[in-house]
Amino acid sequence: MTRFVDQWANRDILTLQPYQAGKPIEELQRELGISDVIKLASNENPRGPGPAVHAAIARAATALSRYPDGSGYRLKRVLAQHLGVRAEQISLGNGSNDVLELIARVALSPGCEGIVSAHAFVVYPLAVIAHGGTLVTVPARDWTHDLDAMADAVTKATRIVFVANPNNPTGTWVARRQLTAFLDRIPEHVVTVLDEAYFEYLQHPDYPNGIELLDRYPNLVVTRTFSKIYGLAGMRVGYCVSHPDIADLLNRVRQPFNVSSLALECAEAAVGDVEFVRRSREINDEGMQQLRRGLDQLGVPYIPSGGNFLCIDLRKPAAPVYDALLRLGVIVRPIAGYGMPNHLRVTVGLHEENARFLDALARVV
Ligand code: PMP
Repeated sequence: MTRFVDQWANRDILTLQPYQAGKPIEELQRELGISDVIKLASNENPRGPGPAVHAAIARAATALSRYPDGSGYRLKRVLAQHLGVRAEQISLGNGSNDVLELIARVALSPGCEGIVSAHAFVVYPLAVIAHGGTLVTVPARDWTHDLDAMADAVTKATRIVFVANPNNPTGTWVARRQLTAFLDRIPEHVVTVLDEAYFEYLQHPDYPNGIELLDRYPNLVVTRTFSKIYGLAGMRVGYCVSHPDIADLLNRVRQPFNVSSLALECAEAAVGDVEFVRRSREINDEGMQQLRRGLDQLGVPYIPSGGNFLCIDLRKPAAPVYDALLRLGVIVRPIAGYGMPNHLRVTVGLHEENARFLDALARVV
């Protein structure tokens, strides 16, 4: 680091490592000069957005000279009806990432603690540290959040605790009984952020719907996104549902136009396309089975996942396998930064993409 930056930059920011995104397809094409590339690296919907979204883009295009509706009035009403909550409970963001940041900004100041699980989504530690909080990382159990240990870690200084359900990158999830036992132990001076970015993929009877718990736990915030099953990762729109008083605070710290007009319009259309979501879930279930079968045949272990991705365990440093897959035109995600140097995360793709990944993996392991 140059002396120049060292002298004025916030100490906490100097310690941060930037978020490592999945390698873009174009980048690999540029670097290796190969045209036939598949990307299974960012837990996106391989089908692209649904037809309702295409029509919405055409509609919104004519209004792009105007600022968006900063209150997101229409999208909030559509979502409220879809989720069975009041519009005042909803806060919108430039992806759910933005919402996670806003919650951290409201909750944290220097001297406050934020609790995360080991191997949890990396944006939580970034948000805690960037907002002056002290990061408390609780070891995981079998790659899953250890909710008992996380509740034990709460102190008078704790203001925020993050629970990803399912978690990225591990795909592990906690059941309703475990979650409510945890929430029962979280005191009023702590906000729990329950990140349900992959909610729509998981239909297990024991998997809890965080929104149904909001009445019982007013210091709970549930975040969701349009980036995953709705196929709108490039549009950047996500939201959270909370007590209206929390939504009021989030509204004070957000940028006035933090969701673009195109994103508002697309998300509104996407909520209504129930069939697209159902079919995407079905394709993901089939693809997950295909990947699991293929990995079983190859003898490559993996962590069972509730999302649209799987962590495979190579039982040795995974970086060379990642590189070899790139050379075959297959982009997956290395997760050494999550304390998982022997694992790679692969997103469930379309049938042909999964087959190509399995074929490439068979060649390199
Ligand atoms: N939470 C989890 C658990 C995620 O995996 C992601 C995306 N990788 C996000 C939040 C953020 O997604 P977005 O900002 O696109 O909504």
